Amino acid sequence: PSTIVKKLFLAGKVVTLNQEIDYETAEEIALEYEVLCEHEVVVDVIEELLKEEEEDTEAMVKRPPVVCVMGHVDHGKTSLLDAIRDSNVIDREAGGITQHIGASVVEVNGEKITFLDTPGHEAFTAMRMRGANSTDIAILVVAADDGVMPQTIEAINHAKAAEIEIVVAINKVDKPSANVERVKQELTEYELIPEDWGGSTIFVPVSAHTKEGIPELLEMILLTAEVMELKANPERNARGLVIEAELDKGKGAVATVLVQKGTLHVGDSIAAGSSHGRVRAMMDDKGRRVKTAGPSMPVEILGLNDVPNAGEVFVGCENEKEARSFAETFISQGRVNMLADTKSKNMSLDDLFT
Ligand code: GDP
Ligand code: MG
Repeated sequence: PSTIVKKLFLAGKVVTLNQEIDYETAEEIALEYEVLCEHEVVVDVIEELLKEEEEDTEAMVKRPPVVCVMGHVDHGKTSLLDAIRDSNVIDREAGGITQHIGASVVEVNGEKITFLDTPGHEAFTAMRMRGANSTDIAILVVAADDGVMPQTIEAINHAKAAEIEIVVAINKVDKPSANVERVKQELTEYELIPEDWGGSTIFVPVSAHTKEGIPELLEMILLTAEVMELKANPERNARGLVIEAELDKGKGAVATVLVQKGTLHVGDSIAAGSSHGRVRAMMDDKGRRVKTAGPSMPVEILGLNDVPNAGEVFVGCENEKEARSFAETFISQGRVNMLADTKSKNMSLDDLFT
């Protein structure tokens, strides 16, 4: 991949690997390198880039929103997520032991919402560096008694840079010292203006403790998702992100992945970051064994040969050979993306490739 980026750079085109290139350019490069390269990796990368470009619009169907919770420390991110999960009656009825897989699916009025547990700023940044947004909507939690704090601003900047919709949850409204109006006032400085003040940002006063406002918050998330018209094609090879992964003594590499496009099946060959393998078993966020996972669904998977990093892209492949070749490609692709992300406008060629 770095060879291609370098070649294009020398031809006057600055591209990163997750950027689309036109067919002519791709063909030119493919023809030139087919003879030279040792594996079909280079051609694979180009094919994959083109595949991404040709999304079949007819096959696109509505998908659930993927939501993360951001905000200053102690403003109630964890409490709010817990309250949201508790409010999900369907969970309780199922009675299953809720297993921690780093993401959870909540059902509201028959519609699903996927919550990512811990997109701490680091993992969040890592995902963005790979050019892949994990989330559609960020709940910005601001404590009503504390107001806008440094990490609140950081979260706003992250969300804006990633073009993620922000829904503001003003938390801890049960506290006597809560001042909802002050929080609204403070956030106007960051272009988050409530609808009743002529802006377009949704603000929901909530209490993770009393659960006040939680149903309204969930409804507002669904409303926001509706407006965003989130869609994906479930009828293609799966593609998505690794949310978290670890090595289990008995099970081997265990990874929680978020399917973003396509459908992942037990038995599929996949590459995830630098690892690859066949999906041996899958489990949903409630700990139930599942055979398939469609767009926006988080699942825990077994069968990878190694532990991938959180934030890595995974792709469903035609066979194990292709999966292995993708894994090799991703190793260098990650490197190129990192470089591309930190590059300044007037970098020298040396800076880029050393
Ligand atoms: P995080 O650091 O953003 O994840 O915040 P936590 O969820 O850990 O909450 C920090 C503290 O605020 C804890 O002591 C919580 O019990 C408290 N807290 C969270 N939500 C509320 C709320 O709605 N009302 C009140 N009174 N306290 C809350
Ligand atoms: Mg927390």
